[in-house]
Amino acid sequence: MDKYDVLKRYFGYCGFRKGQELLVDSILAGRDVLGIMPTGAGKSLCYQVPALLLRGVTVVVSPLISLMKDQVQALNQAGVHAAYINSSLSEGQIAKALLLASKGRYKIIYVAPERLETPGFLEFAAKVEISLVTVDEAHCISQWGQDFRPSYLKIVQFIRRLEKRPVVSAFTATATGRVKEDISCVLGLISPQVLVTGFDRGNLYFGVEYPAKKDTYLLNYVLGHAGESGIVYCATRKNVEAVHAMLSLAGVQATKYHAGLDNEIRQQNQEDFMYDKCPVMVATNAFGMGIDKSNIRYVLHYNMPQGMENYYQEAGRAGRDGVDSECILLYSAQDAVLLRYMMENKEPNTEFTVEESAAVEQWDMERLRAMENYCKTKDCLRGYILNYFGEYGSVRCGNCSNCKKEFEEMDATEAAIKVLECVRQMRGRYGLRVVTGTLLGENTAKLREYRVSEYPAYAGLKEWQQGELRELVGQMLLEGYLEQTKDKYALLGETKKAQELLKGEARLIFKRCRQDSTRNAGAGAGVSIGKRSRSDILNSRGLSLFDLLRGLRTEIAREESVPPYIIFSDRTLIELCVRLPLNGQEMQKVAGIGENKYARYGERFLEVINSFTKGKREKLYFGEEDEALPGNLRGASYRGANREFALTKEQAEQVPYIEAALGATLAVALNALRDAECRKKISGAEIFRFMESEGYVKEKRVDGIWKKIVSEEGVKAGLFVGMRMSKAGKEYEDVYYGKEAQRLVVEHYLENTKEE
Ligand code: ADP
Ligand code: ZN
Repeated sequence: MDKYDVLKRYFGYCGFRKGQELLVDSILAGRDVLGIMPTGAGKSLCYQVPALLLRGVTVVVSPLISLMKDQVQALNQAGVHAAYINSSLSEGQIAKALLLASKGRYKIIYVAPERLETPGFLEFAAKVEISLVTVDEAHCISQWGQDFRPSYLKIVQFIRRLEKRPVVSAFTATATGRVKEDISCVLGLISPQVLVTGFDRGNLYFGVEYPAKKDTYLLNYVLGHAGESGIVYCATRKNVEAVHAMLSLAGVQATKYHAGLDNEIRQQNQEDFMYDKCPVMVATNAFGMGIDKSNIRYVLHYNMPQGMENYYQEAGRAGRDGVDSECILLYSAQDAVLLRYMMENKEPNTEFTVEESAAVEQWDMERLRAMENYCKTKDCLRGYILNYFGEYGSVRCGNCSNCKKEFEEMDATEAAIKVLECVRQMRGRYGLRVVTGTLLGENTAKLREYRVSEYPAYAGLKEWQQGELRELVGQMLLEGYLEQTKDKYALLGETKKAQELLKGEARLIFKRCRQDSTRNAGAGAGVSIGKRSRSDILNSRGLSLFDLLRGLRTEIAREESVPPYIIFSDRTLIELCVRLPLNGQEMQKVAGIGENKYARYGERFLEVINSFTKGKREKLYFGEEDEALPGNLRGASYRGANREFALTKEQAEQVPYIEAALGATLAVALNALRDAECRKKISGAEIFRFMESEGYVKEKRVDGIWKKIVSEEGVKAGLFVGMRMSKAGKEYEDVYYGKEAQRLVVEHYLENTKEE
């Protein structure tokens, strides 16, 4: 048997995902590996496949008791002998498992780190050959990580005691520079093959929303996704209780999970969720470690988490089966203030020295800042995430809330200066609400009490809308012109960098949302956004079959007391409805159906399919087969919008040429013509960059201000500089595209017909 046979036979997959194969090969070749892959990317397969090919036993160290049980269940289902040893077993059970293990009964053994050095385990380790030690959640070994576990240090000692050093493989979903180094050093990996990969989860839609009323948004959303499984994360137990009560009142079958609940109740609630009895889980971050439920269709964050690592791990629990799912964060500035306050008042960790504590605090603050920036950025959210984890992402993914919104840029330097003046007049005594309220000239009781109308800045920006002004201040914080005190009051003050704006050395380009585009971008609650759920793939008859298959899955799951997704994932069920296998051979072509699973359940599923179709082929999906096959969901989930911007000849002929267009205006016109299903959008900035590469324009600093200059060739090509008016009424220069220049741009973006 080779690795492909193992993959197909035990796991039912026809190919490895990106990166998996490299790690499998390295392990098989006897090289240590460090795999940094997000939740759901498929880390387990990287060591499970070699485990089945290596001579000896594989020991998997994991801190997550529930995960162990899940993994072992899944392996046993697939026909692999595996066991786990942790505190959930009685001493008798442990002894029995170790006895069997010593006799070579298991290929894979999961163990909690604190068990490694117990006499029983060491005895077993001395008796059998251990070929591979796998350290899951390897970041727990780093003091700089957020989940440092001293018991992880035992792993190194354990490996040292072994007669023959096994291959060591470490895996984690969350590791930034320092943590990565720690894992490698502390674990003593020998020139490991390091792989950072797959942070991009193409089937996940990312969104940040600023709803006026979170509860209303949430309720609409959950009701709009009735019958689908989802998690709502809240920051506090209190919030969990409140949100859970609200959903329950509205008739949603929701359950809850937080550290304040009885162990037993917590266990029960978790199972209700896992077994789809309650599709919605409202929880604190205590929930989810080791949760491998594959059909979670959405993860909503009612509050902002403490850092991107937490966020991505939690959000990443959506869509593990590869079907499109949504991750939406409901932002409010209050959350950040609260988190900062909590961090400052955290009990110091006595294991750390003063310097270490200070460093950790600083790390925490940095993490929080990065998290806030995610909420405030107007660039592609996926790009932001990938950058954060050290991967290069696309600039526009087309499948996040920012990519779906259209922004227009305006020069808001004047307004920004007024904000700075106001902050200065107030001498850092007030926070965001008072500052913006003052600038808007509001007349509330609170503002009257503060006598803000006496400040010269009062009503200086009264033509602005409250929301936009707050966003402007947010952007000024983001760009470092303003800062907030780090207590719960978050008072605003100016920074040194503010001088650049005041002196005219820098400009503030404010991106604001086009009013008309937000609505149909689906930013509203309950509207599905870029979704490709089963109802997008299967027609109504297909959905009926899906329900039948799902029913059978539940039935089998009950019989075997395992969660339904352990039998088959949603993705496998969808594929069954698309391919309609009528015999065993056809059935085993379906992803997720290996020999073992086929032998166990194949017949029963075939029976349902046969009686539904009466043995006749029919088409139960929309569009073409290869579009509908879940294997292609990942590509399709970008809705194909990942291809570079281009126009066909026919589209190009419809371009409305006008006398003079701004780059942004031209971009809007071209975007409207393009094939939105498969082409990325273009921006005014990109068009400008193209002109720059042709030598028609360039940007130059004149008197401390960046100016766009048109070259002589540029003038010949139809470009010219004209004046524009900023919202604040100040004139500034911008580049205009004459008809000829517009044609030039269109020609450049004409699809290459030979290539298509
Ligand atoms: P992780 O441990 O990285 O969070 P898992 O190992 O649990 O992720 O894998 C996530 C899901 O992806 C599982 O349902 C798994 O069966 C599936 N999967 C893993 N590798 C493949 C593959 N090569 N082809 C198809 N599905 C895969
Ligand atoms: Zn995006």
